[in-house]
Amino acid sequence: MGSQIFLDGAFVSRDDAKVSVFDHGLLYGDGIFEGIRSYDGNVFRLQQHIRRLYDSAKSIALEIPYTQEEMTDLVCETLRRNELSSAYIRLVVTRGSGDLGLSPTNCHGARVFIIAEQLAMFSAALYEQGIHAVTAATRRNRSDSLNPKIKSLNYLNNILIKMEALNAGASEAIVLNSEGYVVEGSGENIFVVRDGVLTTPPAYLGALEGITRQAVIELAGELGYVVKQEPFTQHDVYVADEVFLTGTAAEIVPVISVDRRTIGNGAPGSITKRIHEAFTQIVRTDGVRI
Ligand code: PMP
Repeated sequence: MGSQIFLDGAFVSRDDAKVSVFDHGLLYGDGIFEGIRSYDGNVFRLQQHIRRLYDSAKSIALEIPYTQEEMTDLVCETLRRNELSSAYIRLVVTRGSGDLGLSPTNCHGARVFIIAEQLAMFSAALYEQGIHAVTAATRRNRSDSLNPKIKSLNYLNNILIKMEALNAGASEAIVLNSEGYVVEGSGENIFVVRDGVLTTPPAYLGALEGITRQAVIELAGELGYVVKQEPFTQHDVYVADEVFLTGTAAEIVPVISVDRRTIGNGAPGSITKRIHEAFTQIVRTDGVRI
């Protein structure tokens, strides 16, 4: 059957899933997106993803031509059409086609597409052993220029940061904000663990309010750990007992070195493993069934 992509109101084949070169999402990154995952027929926290999408849309004054309920159904229908019960889903809304000018008033109608595919961000071995990370020289976009709560199509900052990691022979990069506080990874949130206490940077420093991050905060609390949302620096990363990254695409990935400083004993830590274990349980139950 091949993959079926939802594009502008219809399901089309991968080869037919094409958009105009005049789409402002392509020309200017003028649009928003969500990355979502389903696990054994359960779309993990789909309601939260849809809500964040509509919040992003509201913030950039982009009118989505579907209700939140309709969009929820479209995500589930895309999975059903592709006979996928476990998949990564990319939901994109662009400002649509306009002319070469910046003005969004020349765009007539948002464009919506939904892709569902199998995707693993890192190899199974890396999830098992943990990844090496470096601190990126490129800082995160300032929140007063582009609010991190808007999950926009402007990902060049993130891509430049990911390139720094790969150029250094690492898998991921730790990102600082313009004040030098740790914010997140290229496309993941970050947690450090020290003496049994988990700390993640507060969203106001410039991090996305990740849905996986929120799930981990809740799970860690239920497991009896103290979780803090406080600013911290590179130094706190180096001296942490454990470091891990969270995100829909990345899921939970242990970090075993940062800038060639070994984290803890150089292997994924016990708290990271416990939280990962608990996470693999809830992703199959907490959400919307397709
Ligand atoms: N930060 C950034 C910059 C991201 O792109 C993502 C991935 N969406 C995350 C954090 C993690 O967010 P979530 O857990 O909602 O996928």
